[in-house]
Amino acid sequence: MDRIESGTVPEGRLTTEPSVSAETRVDIAIVGAGIAGIATAYYLCTRHRAKSVLLVDSRQPMSFTSAQSGDNYRNWWPHPTMVAFTNHSIELMEELARESANVFRMTRGGYALATRRRNIDELVAELHNAYASTGDDQIRVRTGQSNESYQLPESKNWERAPDGVDVLCSQSLIRKTFPAFSEDIENVIHIRRAGDISGQQLGQYMLQHIRAAGGRKIVAKLRGLEHGQHYVLDLETSDGTQTIRADSLVDAAGPFAGGVAAMIDRQLPVANIFQQKIAFEDTRGAVPRNLPFSIDLDEKQLSWSAEERQLLLDDSELAWLAQTLPGGTHCRPEGGERGKWVKLGWAYNTDVSSPQEDLANEPMLDNRFPEIVIRGAAEFIPAMAEYIELPPSRFSQYGGYYTMTEENWPLIGPLDNKGAFINGALSGFGSMVACAAGSLAAAWVCGGDLPSYSKQLSLARYEDALLMSELRNSHNKGIL
Ligand SMILES: Cc1cc2nc3c(=O)[nH]c(=O)nc-3n(C[C@H](O)[C@H](O)[C@H](O)COP(=O)(O)OP(=O)(O)OC[C@H]3O[C@@H](n4cnc5c(N)ncnc54)[C@H](O)[C@@H]3O)c2cc1C
Repeated sequence: MDRIESGTVPEGRLTTEPSVSAETRVDIAIVGAGIAGIATAYYLCTRHRAKSVLLVDSRQPMSFTSAQSGDNYRNWWPHPTMVAFTNHSIELMEELARESANVFRMTRGGYALATRRRNIDELVAELHNAYASTGDDQIRVRTGQSNESYQLPESKNWERAPDGVDVLCSQSLIRKTFPAFSEDIENVIHIRRAGDISGQQLGQYMLQHIRAAGGRKIVAKLRGLEHGQHYVLDLETSDGTQTIRADSLVDAAGPFAGGVAAMIDRQLPVANIFQQKIAFEDTRGAVPRNLPFSIDLDEKQLSWSAEERQLLLDDSELAWLAQTLPGGTHCRPEGGERGKWVKLGWAYNTDVSSPQEDLANEPMLDNRFPEIVIRGAAEFIPAMAEYIELPPSRFSQYGGYYTMTEENWPLIGPLDNKGAFINGALSGFGSMVACAAGSLAAAWVCGGDLPSYSKQLSLARYEDALLMSELRNSHNKGIL
């Protein structure tokens, strides 16, 4: 298989900002122009009318973790706080989709969660708990009688798709709606407020508005940070060094957020875990073009021949591949109804990395991953098995860090009590929460109105022993 590059920002796509002079004073400096930093700048400039906002990044905007995103979104979370947070983010995205004539191609085919479990009482109870505040009619269990009113995922138009969750327990309905799924799939949970966007286009759209409102960006690496009367940023630029003074600072440095916080002696409870995806042309038509983003929820053993299994078990480095692997293998068609590509992912890695500046040098970028994820996908979409024997001739393999807290909740709020803030730990959900995260970070910076969940998403949650114990004991942390 030939590997091809993906996830890079096309040249010339981003215009240069008006120059930032050698010694500059700004109101708010944001370190990081990934989707977290850009969304923060967007809400600062547009909603709070902040006049002097500077984005600092050593790379082009949206070119690090944010360029690796699968760009999927969902309001499906095991906890009501994260449901409220993602629902708000989706509302804000819908607002932007409306006002921009959907320049970032928001769709809403849903998420189809497939399981072989016959008894899904626990999963349904989790849905009721998570969606409790969104209304009683949000969870519709389809056992046969109520099949007629189930709206098929035919149109991915976000304005026409229903809300809530359809729990498909009827075999006939599952076979008719998801003919690509393996026949041992007993139940499908169809999350309706879910789909995909173009994160790059969303970032570009926000950048245009930031520029129009007078916000600026500088290509520079933050080397040091001090706090006296102001935050003093020591920057390395392509032609030397520069000092910027800022009244407020936002750490939106993605995988490097811990390093930026450490410059002002703050420790962040985050780790970086590398996760991968592949994309390839589905020349054999294994994945129907109208398939929603689909996830196999079940733990599984991959299908190896007896001989292959023995060889794996005899190799201490590979033995794990012959053992039970976690659920979460996912697949979706890429490029719309007329496209041919598919994307596959499986966030099974749990090893913590020290983040590399060049993602292609991450030792966890594993050349066995394409075969592993195709084998995983074949367990619930059997037609994928064809690609085990005859792998796709061209494919794109890429990866990036899930920068995450142990409980897999983000960190948005004050970093110290002098004017530094964090918008980070966005794990595998940064594109979908970007709008709510940016809006929340901007409100913290400007002293604006804060939503009810703001404390829970900030560092202050670690003082709430009850919440932390609930989160640490939860078996489902919403990692995909
Ligand atoms: C494989 C993969 C698939 C994913 N799929 C999805 C998905 O389907 N849906 C979803 O919602 N999310 C997904 N995510 C998660 C999402 O991509 C991230 O949460 C999000 O991109 C994080 O954005 P960020 O702005 O925090 O970080 P980044 O995009 O990494 O931005 C941080 C920026 O800070 C800059 N920086 C760091 N340190 C410094 C410094 N010292 N000086 C100057 N600049 C600095 C970096 O150059 C970088 O540009 C996925 C992630 C991965 C890895």
